[in-house]
Amino acid sequence: TVAPLLPTVGAGWVVPLVGGRQARSVHLDVAASAPALQRVADHVAAALPAYASVHRGAGYLSQLSTALYERARETVGTSVGARADDVVVFTRNTTDALNLLSSAVPGDVVVLDVEHHANLLPWRSPSRAHGARVVRVASTLVETEALLAAELARSPAALLAVTGASNVTGEVPDLRRLADLAHGHRARLAVDAAQLLPHRGVDLAATGIDYVAFSGHKVYAPYGVGALVGRRDWLDAAEPHLAGGGAVREVTTTSTTWAPSPERHEGGTPAVLGALALAEALRTLAETGLDRVREHEAALRDRLVAGLEGRGIEPLRLWSDAPDAVGVVSFVVPGWRSAQVAAYLSAEHGVGVRDGRFCAHPLLARFGLGRGDGAVRASFGVGSGSADVDRLLSALDQLLAEGPRWTYASDGGSCRP
Ligand code: PMP
Repeated sequence: TVAPLLPTVGAGWVVPLVGGRQARSVHLDVAASAPALQRVADHVAAALPAYASVHRGAGYLSQLSTALYERARETVGTSVGARADDVVVFTRNTTDALNLLSSAVPGDVVVLDVEHHANLLPWRSPSRAHGARVVRVASTLVETEALLAAELARSPAALLAVTGASNVTGEVPDLRRLADLAHGHRARLAVDAAQLLPHRGVDLAATGIDYVAFSGHKVYAPYGVGALVGRRDWLDAAEPHLAGGGAVREVTTTSTTWAPSPERHEGGTPAVLGALALAEALRTLAETGLDRVREHEAALRDRLVAGLEGRGIEPLRLWSDAPDAVGVVSFVVPGWRSAQVAAYLSAEHGVGVRDGRFCAHPLLARFGLGRGDGAVRASFGVGSGSADVDRLLSALDQLLAEGPRWTYASDGGSCRP
């Protein structure tokens, strides 16, 4: 058996099932939002008494809040290997971070067609003066890299923007190679690390990645905070992401002098507790050791993939040569609608998974899954153990055995036996 690596809040929560039964809930939707680490919850509780205005107040508590917030910024920067010219901008989430970056990129962006919408739609924003060029992935990573290289060579681009780990298949590309590839064509590399950071970490200095975006709620901190970390020059030349108090040096009735980054993009009062939580989560993962995190997850992933394959269920995979995959596994149960499977797992067994198209419609379309026809996704992390995977597998066994008793009613999304 594999025990959870770190304690998280909410473990052991008892949830209602159909027929008035109850069960300990199994959270296998960690990729959507990970339960907070217990240490993060304790850290936030300890910081609450210092609750006062940041960057504005003269009082002692205000100075303390400001110091804690700025220390969190430093910790976040250090945790992702920020270089001397990198800036840490706190944002609401990955989506917000990539929208901020999209307004700062001085040229075309090249992306793959397998991105989460957060790393596709901001580049297509009507307010951008430059293009978003979408390259179709090939069935191997090596071929895919060649297609990206050909696209960058065909016409100059300012940025290559890739996902660090797929939110559908969990697969991880070779980011150092992609950084070299981008730089070889005078472009920069941005990584959507929403799914990568909780599992593998990111090291900007070691890999050469220029920008990284991520969310606190996927890395065992609560909702509401994320960050964009990367090269200062584009961020200082960009229009402010959130114009307002704190983002300026000087304002007259007719003119504004904007502050440099990160203040330039953080107008208004920031999510201080979120920033502290994010920093504590990253510190905890680093102290635990990312190698241990990887090992833990690999054991769970292997167990789940073997269990699914043993039941005739093939996990979705993009590349035959992906060097690594995180704890995200999506699949279709032959003969079953995915929405029905997910509803059954929750209502009958208290097993929480995700179903649908995972905000990655073009990627699901590559697997032949279109509107109204998604996949089931199970995802786990440091708070998961082999008992969680086993509960899912035995629930699937019962689904396959009970079968037709189940119908999924799409009116209101309820499910009835
Ligand atoms: N990118 C990827 C790969 C994701 O999995 C997600 C979350 N599903 C996002 C971006 C967006 O994250 P958020 O909703 O926190 O902005």
